[in-house]
Amino acid sequence: MAEASPDLARAWHRALAGIRQELRGPAFDLWIGDVSPTGYHNGVVQLAVPNPFVQELMSLRYAGALRSALSEAIGEPLEVEFSVARERPLAAPPPPAPARLFAEVDPVGEVDFAASPLNPRFTFDSFVVGASNRFPQAAAQAVARSPAKSYNPLFLYGGVGLGKTHLMQAIGHLVRQLHPELNVVYVQGETFLYHFVSSIREDRTAEFRRRYRSVDVWLVDDFQFIASRERTRTEPEFFHTFNALYETNKQIVVTSDRAPKDLLIDDRLRSRFEWGLVTDIKPPDIETRVAILQKRAAEDRLLVPDDVLMYIAQVVSDSIRVLEGALVKVVASASLMHEEVTVELARECLKDYTLGQPHLGVDSAVIQRAVAKHYGMEPEALVGKSRRQEVALPRQVAMYLCREVLGISFNDIGVHFDRDHSTVMHACTKITELLASRDADVSAAVSSITERIELRGLE
Ligand code: ADP
Ligand code: MG
Repeated sequence: MAEASPDLARAWHRALAGIRQELRGPAFDLWIGDVSPTGYHNGVVQLAVPNPFVQELMSLRYAGALRSALSEAIGEPLEVEFSVARERPLAAPPPPAPARLFAEVDPVGEVDFAASPLNPRFTFDSFVVGASNRFPQAAAQAVARSPAKSYNPLFLYGGVGLGKTHLMQAIGHLVRQLHPELNVVYVQGETFLYHFVSSIREDRTAEFRRRYRSVDVWLVDDFQFIASRERTRTEPEFFHTFNALYETNKQIVVTSDRAPKDLLIDDRLRSRFEWGLVTDIKPPDIETRVAILQKRAAEDRLLVPDDVLMYIAQVVSDSIRVLEGALVKVVASASLMHEEVTVELARECLKDYTLGQPHLGVDSAVIQRAVAKHYGMEPEALVGKSRRQEVALPRQVAMYLCREVLGISFNDIGVHFDRDHSTVMHACTKITELLASRDADVSAAVSSITERIELRGLE
C-alpha cells in the first residue's frame, strides 16, 4: 500500500475542514478520525478504513462529499476508494478528528447506567390521573407491581410533554421500592445508540452486551431516536437485546413519540412491540389540566385562585410541560409587577399562547439568550470554545434546556452549540444529576431561566 505523501495529507486536512460543518453528525464524527488517505494514483484517492462497517458507512453516505471536497483541495476531479486496513498507514499524520476538537468528556462508550438517574419528582404520587392517561397509568402500575408478569413489553406513546417520561420513571421508582433486588435501568433511546456505536468503535461490544443483558427492568425512553438514525446497525442490536431480555423473562418498557405502526422499523421488531401492550397517552382534558395545575401549585406553595387555574387550563391544552410553564409565567409576572394573581393578569401574560403551538417562537437562540442573561455573559460565549467552569456550566444548562423545552436530539442540539453529540449528552446527564441531587444553584438557575424563557413576551 502506498504511503500518503505530505501533499495528500494536507489536501485531506483541507478537505475535512471544508466539509466538517456540512457533515457533522454522530456517525461522521465518530468514524472520520479512523479514515486516512494512503495514496493517490490515476485519479483515485485511496482511503483506509478500520473495518467493513466503516467502509460501508463511508461509501454509502459520505463518498460523494469526500470526493468533491478532495477534488477541490487537490485541484482536479478525482474518485475516492475505501479499503479496509488493519494498520494505520505509517506516514499519514493523525487526521483532525472534528468530534474530538471539542471533547470535554470521557468517551461516550462507557456503558454507565448510573449516569441516567431517575428524577425524584416523577413518581406515581405526583402523577395526576384523568381520562387521557387512566389506562396507561394503570398499565404502568401493574407492570411495576409485577414486572414481566403483566404486560411485556409495555409500549407507551404520545406527543411531547404529555407525561411519558414521568410515567416510565414512576415505574422505575415503584419497582425499586417493591422489588429492591431487581436491576432497574432507565436509558434514553439515543443513549443506547451511542453506547452501542462507540462500543463497536472501541471494540467493547462484549462488555456492552454483558451490561445491557444484566438488566431486570429495562426502561427505554424516546425509542424514536433509535429508529431514526444509524438504524441499520443499531436496530438489530436493539432487537437482540430485546430478545435476550424478553426470553429470560425480564420486563421491558418503551416510550416513543409515535405508535409502533408509524415507526420506520423492521416488521419483526414491530411485531415484538405488539406482543405486549401498546397504549397511548392523550392530551389531557380540561379537568385533568386543572387538577395538574392545582397539584403543581400546591407542591410549589403557590397561591393561585381557582378561576386563574381554570383560565390557564383553558388556554393551554396540548402539553403538560407548557401548562406548567404557563403557571410559572403567570405567577412570576404577578410577583415581578407586584400585582395580585388574577384572571386579567393571566390573560395579559398568556396572550401569545396560541392553541396547539406550544412554546411558540422558542428556539435554541432564545434559550441561549435567556441562559446568557441569567449568568451575565454574552450568548456567543455559550457557543465559543472556552472550557472554563464559568462558561462550561451555563453552556451545559443551556443544552439541557434545549433538550427539555424543545425535545430535540443531542445531535441537533450539538449543531447549535458547535459541539458533538457526546458533549451534549454528557451535559444533559450532568444537569439531570445535579437537579436530582437538588443542587441549589443549578435548580435555581434552571427554574429562573425557564421563567425567563416563558416571560420573553414581557421583556
Ligand atoms: P414527555 O416525556 O411525554 O415529553 P414528561 O413526562 O417529561 O413528558 O412530562 C412533562 C412535564 O409534565 C413533567 O414536568 C411532568 O411531571 C408533567 N406531567 C406530565 N403528565 C403529568 C400528570 N399526569 N400529572 C402531573 N404531572 C404531569
Ligand atoms: Mg420524555
